[in-house]
Amino acid sequence: MAMTPSREQLEQWDREHVWHPFTPMQTYTNERPTIIERARGCILVDLDGREYIDGVSSLWCNVHGHQVPELDQAIREQLDQVAHSTLLGLGNVPSIRLARKLAELAPPGLTHVFFSDDGATAVEVALKLAFQYWRQCSKPQPQKSKFLAIHRAYHGDTLGDVSVGDLERFHHLFSPLLFPTVRAPSPYCYRCPLGLERARCQIDCVEALVSLVREHHETLAAVIVEPLMQAAAGMIAAPDGYLRRIREVTKELNVLLIADEVAVGMGRTGTLFACDRENVVPDFLCLAKGLTGGYLPLAATLTTDEVYRSFLGRPDEGRTFYHGHTYTGNALGAAVALANLDLLVGADASRERPGGLLATLPDKINRLQSHLKRMAQLPHVGDIRQQGMVAGIELVQRKEGKVPFPPERRVGSELCRHARDRGVFLRPLGDVIVIFPPLAIENSLLDQLCEVVYNCLRELNSPLG
Ligand code: PMP
Repeated sequence: MAMTPSREQLEQWDREHVWHPFTPMQTYTNERPTIIERARGCILVDLDGREYIDGVSSLWCNVHGHQVPELDQAIREQLDQVAHSTLLGLGNVPSIRLARKLAELAPPGLTHVFFSDDGATAVEVALKLAFQYWRQCSKPQPQKSKFLAIHRAYHGDTLGDVSVGDLERFHHLFSPLLFPTVRAPSPYCYRCPLGLERARCQIDCVEALVSLVREHHETLAAVIVEPLMQAAAGMIAAPDGYLRRIREVTKELNVLLIADEVAVGMGRTGTLFACDRENVVPDFLCLAKGLTGGYLPLAATLTTDEVYRSFLGRPDEGRTFYHGHTYTGNALGAAVALANLDLLVGADASRERPGGLLATLPDKINRLQSHLKRMAQLPHVGDIRQQGMVAGIELVQRKEGKVPFPPERRVGSELCRHARDRGVFLRPLGDVIVIFPPLAIENSLLDQLCEVVYNCLRELNSPLG
């Protein structure tokens, strides 16, 4: 039997062989890596037995914590049946049950579910479906082939997603490979792209978007948006009414709407889906991350009967959606997603009356809000943006004039390193500190997490500031 590798060996092999995503590898390999060995509840434990609160839900996907008995059990039971069988021309039990459940819980009318495996593929599927729809709907309009997306958007790393994305650091290198996208201003109130103040504006950024839709609607296949919050952009919270206005104009001008809820779906903003907050029914709803409670990669793109029907016909008519992934609708993933939904909204709950964890969130959201209010008083905290159980804290060198820190100081990373030394795992977005704990986090741990963040923010003044 192979020997269990020592901690030193694992560290060495990690440096030699593992290429970490979104990670400057030269810096990573020059430092001693933190290697997670196990986790329970909201606590991650490394190879030295050191504990960390999982402050970013293992990258925005964990819902109920780790080693949740009900979720573990769902996977074990499914393992006794089958781990994976293809969905290409074949069904499997948990994916059928999950599709049915999602159709019941989603905004009304989103009755068809296309499974894939990650957030990026959920969005890529929506883009391709929207594009193909206009070629074969009852009144085909093949000129409708463009997408309108928002400045600073992030929708994943496939080239289609990168085309609608707009984060300079991640995307611009690839620009020769991308298709052109119509771009509307971001609802970034703290640094308003239109130079306005939120207290006095009429959500002019969305009116700019409306004008662009009016100008381009004849060639627009769809508008794509991250409902309520542009996540990777730095947790930029949209003003109330922003999403609803986008739905109004897209409906009026016959443009499809893609809601990318990969980051903000599955209860994160306080309702099961972010679109629910504004009573919006998009044409496509993209889900991933929290869909399996943070256990396994599984994604879903939900759409309407109208879209689905345009793909029906004899095989030789060429209406089929020739797109899919090997692990599409994976049985283990679907089984754990079902168990996740049972815990999140209650096994017998309906869309109108959710129970489960979701019903307990309002108190927790208020608790997080009080912690954030206290942090807002600190000198280097420029802006705090919260939607439900997610918050972004934008650091500035000087509040007056909203002067950012020089990027080369990597203040966000520095602060997160300090937090890690104090038992909290965080990952920043540039100089925005992200708080994104598992929804099930106990009050005492939430308090502890926020206390560590508060102290790290306060100390920005002295050793770093
Ligand atoms: N869309 C949004 C809004 C996201 O935040 C992300 C990931 N951060 C993605 C898509 C891509 O998801 P994945 O990393 O699972 O491919």
